[in-house]
Amino acid sequence: MPEDNDADKLRAEIERGRLLFARPWRHRMGVATVAGLPAAEGIEVAFAGRSNVGKSSLINALVGQRALARTSNTPGRTRELNFFAIEGAPPGLTLVDMPGYGFARAAKADVAAWTGLIFDYLRGRANLRRVYLLIDARHGLKTNDIETLALLDKTAVSYQAVLTKADKLKQAELEATMAEVAAAIRKRSAAHPLVLATSSATGLGVDALRAEIAALVPE
Ligand code: GDP
Repeated sequence: MPEDNDADKLRAEIERGRLLFARPWRHRMGVATVAGLPAAEGIEVAFAGRSNVGKSSLINALVGQRALARTSNTPGRTRELNFFAIEGAPPGLTLVDMPGYGFARAAKADVAAWTGLIFDYLRGRANLRRVYLLIDARHGLKTNDIETLALLDKTAVSYQAVLTKADKLKQAELEATMAEVAAAIRKRSAAHPLVLATSSATGLGVDALRAEIAALVPE
C-alpha cells in the first residue's frame, strides 16, 4: 500500500537523521573574515536568524548536546561564523552557525561588517547546500528577516524558513504564523516552499529537521 511505503520511507529518513546527529559533533573553528574560511569540503548547511531567535538552542537540540553552540549571552563567538563537524569523520557534513542579526544597539559599522562577511560567505561558498532561516514563531518575519531573505535571493542560496519556540504558541496561532511565513516566501526564487515548526524546549520538529538535513548529504 502506498501509505505504508510512505510511512516506511519517512521512518527511514528520520532514522538516518537520528544516526547522523548522534555522532560526536564538535566545534571546529570560528571565522571572522572570509579569508579565514576553511576549505570547502563535503557539504555545508547554515543557520541564520535574529539574535535571540533560539539558534544556539536549536543547534544544541539537533546534536543532542547542551552546549555545542553557545547561547547568545556569551559574547565573542557571536560575530563569527562557527563551524561544527563530526569528530574523526571525513568531512561529509558541516553545520555553520551564522552570527545573529538585529541587535537593537548594534553600531552601524558592526552591521556593515556582519553584512559583508555574510554576503561574501553566501556568495562564494560552493558547497553550501541550504540556509535554514530561523524565525521566532511569536514574532513572525521582521524587517531584518526580510532583508536577509533578499540577501539569500540575491546570492541564489537555497533556503528554508524554520519557526522556533513553537511551544510558546497555541496550535491555531502556530498554523497561522506558518501560513503567513509560507505566503511571504512563496514568490521568492530561492526559498523552499515548506515552513518547518520547531521547539528546542519540547523537541517538536527536531527529528524532521535532522531528517531533512541528512537527506541533503549523499549516502
Ligand atoms: P540565539 O541567540 O538565537 O542563539 O538564541 P538562544 O538559543 O540563546 O535562545 C534565546 C532564548 O530563547 C534563551 O533564553 C532560550 O532559553 C530561549 N529558547 C530557545 N529555544 C526555545 C524554545 O524552543 N522554546 C522556548 N520556550 N524558549 C526557547
